[in-house]
Amino acid sequence: MQKVNCPLCGSSELRFLFKAPADPVEKLGYFSVSKCLVCEFVFTNPQAEEEDLKKLYSSEYYGEEHQRFWPVIEKVINSFRKGRIEKIEKFKKRGRILDIGCGRGKMLAGFRDKGWETYGTELSEESARYAKERLRLNVYQGDFLNSNFPADFFDCVTLFHVLEHLKDPLRNLAEIKRVLKKDGLLLIALPNFGGGQSVFSGKAWFHLDVPRHYSQFTQKTLKSFLDKSGFQIKKVNHFSLEYDPFGFLQSLYNFIGIEHNLLYRIFRAKKDRLRILNQHRLQMLFILWTLPMLAGLSLILSLYDSMAKGGGSLELYCWKR
Ligand SMILES: [Zn+2]
Repeated sequence: MQKVNCPLCGSSELRFLFKAPADPVEKLGYFSVSKCLVCEFVFTNPQAEEEDLKKLYSSEYYGEEHQRFWPVIEKVINSFRKGRIEKIEKFKKRGRILDIGCGRGKMLAGFRDKGWETYGTELSEESARYAKERLRLNVYQGDFLNSNFPADFFDCVTLFHVLEHLKDPLRNLAEIKRVLKKDGLLLIALPNFGGGQSVFSGKAWFHLDVPRHYSQFTQKTLKSFLDKSGFQIKKVNHFSLEYDPFGFLQSLYNFIGIEHNLLYRIFRAKKDRLRILNQHRLQMLFILWTLPMLAGLSLILSLYDSMAKGGGSLELYCWKR
């Protein structure tokens, strides 16, 4: 475990906030979350060992046979991917796009179908291989910081729920600025630590996802990172149907005391599903009994939060200054 100073301002004046559990499957226990007293940035501290984190990005995270969820849920996720492309095309029509942390490359393949020149970077060997070999995409396997693309190369760079996974956001943003064209678009989507569901559920918040998430951004601290890195925010979205309602629902169950992220694990698991169901029969009955009511409530609360500009996630469209 490695203690760090504030990744935004470098200060060592920190306040301990709480300890949050890692996914029980990963057997890594609890991780402390600290807040910088100078700039208010919130982050995991100390951080997990690199070796442990590598294990967390194994095939378990991305699913077997390159299917992370149930087929019906994959279909829903596919429609979300299409939505992402449409949103970006409102700002940029075609060009050269880089998706950092592109996973299996399904979204990039969608961009390619629409005439974009597509590039990706991906840490997971298995996912990068799928993107390269099965989808024939141009993907760099490894850390974006080592990818070494030419300067002023991309019309658009996207980070969909990736920036919070990066150890050094400032260095990554500086590299993005270098490879982005002068009028290039940067899209960052990530969980909002300052949003209603995070404030309500505290250490039970589904999207804390320690220790994978190094950073817990709020709109204010993300803006500070972008200011420091030479980016200007043009538009902020405060609602994501993909992330917010389920995030609220899973956080409610975590808060009530159901085993951490149980519902998400059931959706995600494949070979383990029956074993998990058998192990948690009573809790599953409770979930089934309360699901219609709490799912409806989560949707309403998520919409309310987004209207109050405190949604469960943030989506920022930025330009180089
Ligand atoms: Zn700080």
